[in-house]
This record gives sequence, structure tokens and C-alpha cells, in this order.
Amino acid sequence: MKKYPVVVIGSGPAGIMAALQAAGRGIQTLLLEKNSYIGNKLLITGGGRCNLTNNRDLPDFIASYHNGDFLRNAFDQFFNRDLIAFFEENGFKLVVEQEHLIFPASQSAQDVANFLLAQLKEKKVETRFQSPVLDIQKTGSCLFEITTVTGPIIAEKIILATGGKSYPQTGSTGDGYGLAEKLGHTVAKPRPALCGIVLQEAWHKKWQGISLERAGLKLMLGNKRLGSESGEIIFTHFGISGPAVLNLSRFLTETEDKRLTRLLINFIPELNESTLQLRLRDEFSRHGRMTARKILSTLVPARIAEQIVLCAGVPEDKTASNITGRERQALVVLFNSFPLAVDGLLPIEDAMVTRGGVNTKELNPQTMESRIAPGLYFAGEIIDVDGKTGGFNLQAAFSTGFAAGAHVWR
Ligand SMILES: Cc1cc2nc3c(=O)[nH]c(=O)nc-3n(C[C@H](O)[C@H](O)[C@H](O)COP(=O)(O)OP(=O)(O)OC[C@H]3O[C@@H](n4cnc5c(N)ncnc54)[C@H](O)[C@@H]3O)c2cc1C
Repeated sequence: MKKYPVVVIGSGPAGIMAALQAAGRGIQTLLLEKNSYIGNKLLITGGGRCNLTNNRDLPDFIASYHNGDFLRNAFDQFFNRDLIAFFEENGFKLVVEQEHLIFPASQSAQDVANFLLAQLKEKKVETRFQSPVLDIQKTGSCLFEITTVTGPIIAEKIILATGGKSYPQTGSTGDGYGLAEKLGHTVAKPRPALCGIVLQEAWHKKWQGISLERAGLKLMLGNKRLGSESGEIIFTHFGISGPAVLNLSRFLTETEDKRLTRLLINFIPELNESTLQLRLRDEFSRHGRMTARKILSTLVPARIAEQIVLCAGVPEDKTASNITGRERQALVVLFNSFPLAVDGLLPIEDAMVTRGGVNTKELNPQTMESRIAPGLYFAGEIIDVDGKTGGFNLQAAFSTGFAAGAHVWR
């Protein structure tokens, strides 16, 4: 049975970075991957373009995660500027989009994967594909026996980087949770984060396909605001999605009774209530013979205008000059906070990331080593940390991978 000083399990961004760091320090490193290629999930990130990281400062980063404080030590060792340098100093060009988002200049996640694969070869990481790990046993005080479909392997140190449980077709099926539990860890129940919100109303399907570049969103439980976001939204067959909704869904992940929550949409967040009042009064007096619906269609898509007029109780054919002050006020309120009843979140399979995973309190945040099973390290989404959209999740995977790989043999 072959013995390796370091075995990394999972070739997502976390496992790749961990293997590169360990091998870069001259340690013989084996990388085991169940698929036949590295980083299957990486290939679909950012719509196939891979939003690698974000150029914001450390406090913004920490605030963008569930359990963000756990990442401080890893970010001290390897942060966004280090990730950018890692790519650019090796000849891989990056670009900034929307002021903060970092993408490959080629706009191709496949190019990122090819670059990482070349790095693995250069650092002489032994990479074994189609090798799902089935079991890990601690043998004696400082060795692990790893069971794979291709036979057993002995490891002195293991870095477990098997990812979360979302998009299981990519290979991230949550295998690492069971392995971690068997080795004594507690695992917070995996739940969907960053995913679309399912709506109760059937009529919302009338809005399917509409996307708004900038809307304001509030998630309410009774009178309590659970969270708010603004940005792009898209109406879909199940409800609502888009970057602003994905980020808002993280508040719903925490909520026990999702069906008691409401989503309030502000269709024109740049106009406050009194400015909108004045704007509508002006539009209605200038176009007195047009219907309210027609006038509102100049501000929002026609299908949304139609529903707003219906919900405000304004007769469809009523002309603007006949709209009462009370009706106008009802229209303004609906423009500003249109209520939609929430049914829940899409299932974890359709979420971008997993909330939950290996308890951060059981890991040393400097080294990512287990406080329970010495010699066992963790990296990436398997840990109970998840971030907003915008490159935060890949940065967390690369940074924790770096910390684990840099410390595994100290
Ligand atoms: C559609 C989508 C778009 C996304 N876009 C972005 C984005 O643009 N920017 C961003 O920051 N984040 C994005 N994310 C999130 C990001 O992809 C993940 O957070 C990140 O890939 C996690 O990295 P990881 O290395 O921890 O795990 P993963 O990337 O999930 O990799 C884990 C690897 O382990 C392997 N594995 C699992 N079990 C075993 C086993 N038993 N034996 C051997 N191998 C195993 C898997 O096959 C997989 O290759 C996106 C996610 C999705 C689903």
C-alpha cells in the first residue's frame, strides 16, 4: 500500500490551492478527485466566466460571509491581492468589472481550470482522477487509511476539500460531511444559500421573463425586516431570482417559517415616496386622457404596470384625469413596496452555495487543522462559511486552501 505525506481530497479551487501550496514546499502530494477533470463546479462559476474574487477591502469581505470572522487568519495569509498576483504573475490576465468584480480577461472559466491544471503539473502534484474517496480511518496515532474505488492509500496528513452539497452533478455531493463526522467532527446541517426564492402567488408567472436592472428588495417577517438588498432581479417560472435575490435568500436560509415571510419590491428605488407622488401627479395631469396603466408602463414593464393598477383597485379603463388622490397614493405604495408572499427557497441542489458544514470552532483558523483529529485539515465550502455573490466564495476557497496547504507540513 503506497504511503503519501499529504493527500488532498477534492480538486475544486480549495483542494487545488492546498495541493499547490503543499507541493510548492517540496512535499510529495497526491490529489484525489472523483471526476475525470479538475474543478467541475469551477467551470460553471459566474455563468461560465468565473468571478474569481472581489477587490473590496477586508472589512467588506468579513461582513459578506456567514461566519466571516473565521476567515480573518486565512485572509491575512492569502487575500484578494495575493490571488490576483498568483494569476497575473504567472501570465494569466484578469479584468475588473462593475468596479469590484474580478474575472479572467478571456471571460472563460475553462481557461482558469486549464491554468490551474498547468500549475498542478508544474508543481508536480500527482493528480488521480476517477478516484472517489469512500472512507477514511485513523490508523495508529498519526496515519490515515483512505479507501478509494481504486484501492487503499496511506496518508500522514489529509486535506479534505470535497466542497458543499449544491449542484451535485458537478461532483460536490456532500461526501466530506460524512467523512468528517466519522472522524469526530460536528457538521451543521447543509441548507441552500444563494438561491432563487419560490413565490406563493400563481399570478407571478405573468411576470416570468421580466428582468429589472435595479430594484429594491426587503424581506419581512410581520413588521420585522429580515434583510434588504438592491440590484438586478429576474422573474422566473418558480418565482424570483437574480443577484439581489440570491443575496437576500441568505436571510431566508436562517428563517424557520419561510411561508410567513413577504418580499417587498421597490420598482424604482431611486425615487422616494414623496418624489414618486409628485412624479405621478405631474404625469397624470399632463396625460389626463391616457389610462393610468399606460402612463405607468413608461416607468415599469407593461405587465408589472397592469398588476399594480389591478392591485390598487383602479379600473382598467379609468383615465388619469379621473384618478383620485387615494388611488394615486395606493399606486405609489405598490410601486415602492409591492408585496409578494414567499413559499420558500429552491432546493439545495439548485443553490449556488451551501450554508452549514464542518463547525468552524473545531478548526484552527490559522492552519485549518482539526482540533479533534490532528493531521486532518479542511479547506473550502465543506467548512461552515458561505458568502454573498461577487467572488467571495471562490476567494474563501482559495484562501482556506492556501492556509491548509501552507501549514500541513510545518
Ligand atoms: C452555478 C454556480 C456559480 C457560481 N459562481 C461563482 C462565482 O462566480 N464566484 C464565486 O466566488 N463563487 C461562485 N460559486 C461558488 C463556488 O463555485 C464554490 O463556493 C467553490 O467552488 C467551492 O470550492 P471548493 O473547492 O470548496 O469545492 P468544489 O468546487 O465543490 O470542489 C469539490 C471537489 O471535490 C470533489 N469530491 C467530492 N467528493 C469527493 C470524494 N468523495 N472523493 C473525491 N473527490 C470528491 C468534487 O468532485 C469536486 O471536484 C458558484 C457556484 C455555482 C453552483
